Amino acid sequence: MNSILKWDGHTHTAFCPHGTSAELGLYLDRAVQLGFTRYTVSEHSPLPKHWMKNEQLQRELAMEASELPAYFDYVKNYKNRYEGVLEIWTGMEIDYLPGKPQYSLELAEQCHHEVEDWVVSLHFLPGKDGMRCIDYTPQDFEEGLIAYYGSMEKVVDEYYNELEQGVALAAKLPGSRRLGHVNLIEKFHKALPPIDPDQIRKRLDGLLPKLAEAGVGIDVNTAGLRVPTCGQPYVPGWFIGRCLEMGIPLVFGSDAHRPEHVGEGWNYYEESIASFRSARP
Ligand SMILES: [Zn+2]
Ligand SMILES: [Zn+2]
Repeated sequence: MNSILKWDGHTHTAFCPHGTSAELGLYLDRAVQLGFTRYTVSEHSPLPKHWMKNEQLQRELAMEASELPAYFDYVKNYKNRYEGVLEIWTGMEIDYLPGKPQYSLELAEQCHHEVEDWVVSLHFLPGKDGMRCIDYTPQDFEEGLIAYYGSMEKVVDEYYNELEQGVALAAKLPGSRRLGHVNLIEKFHKALPPIDPDQIRKRLDGLLPKLAEAGVGIDVNTAGLRVPTCGQPYVPGWFIGRCLEMGIPLVFGSDAHRPEHVGEGWNYYEESIASFRSARP
């Protein structure tokens, strides 16, 4: 079996207001200890002012635009310190914002000299009283989205409609880019009305040709494994196989928000790829 590059491509830092204040060095040491050779630091991008009606929640979600230079300096500093030990890529988890793709494109334009690796994520949908998080709490999901759209099925469809726009945004970013946690909509699936697996399968199937055509990869994000209401990675095994068949790039992502999360779920990634390869003649 060809060896797989040991790369954790989705991680956060103390610049994330809902993470921890742990120094980046603790994350990097953990990565080295686990045998990773490449590591992307992909902090949440700043949000537009007044993006959400709930300003207090918005402050918890991402750094301010004014913090960007400090963030890039911070990562650069560690890049130098770990030279020859760990290949560190400066990344960003940039939001696809429903109805506001221009905001992210302009941000990317401003930052593209710094950012080597983009994870494009959808965390918001229009809902009750404006923009709502899809990954905040089950209760918030229920009140802000299910009550607003009328059914889980409609929320799920809206999510994938917007995610397809996210692929179009990602296609316009320079360099390495992939779509973040494609099944984040399942984060609270154990606590909410059931999601039809056929609907998910159909919508993910529809995403494949768009990814292939746009040259956009997939963040094989395993953070769902540590969320009790989810208990599964945000990218199913069959989808990993289809991406491999279609030449869509895959990068593992722990979505670490604290040092001990680094590399979590790597086995799932490795085993999914191995089982795909062994099933082929
Ligand atoms: Zn986060
Ligand atoms: Zn995310």
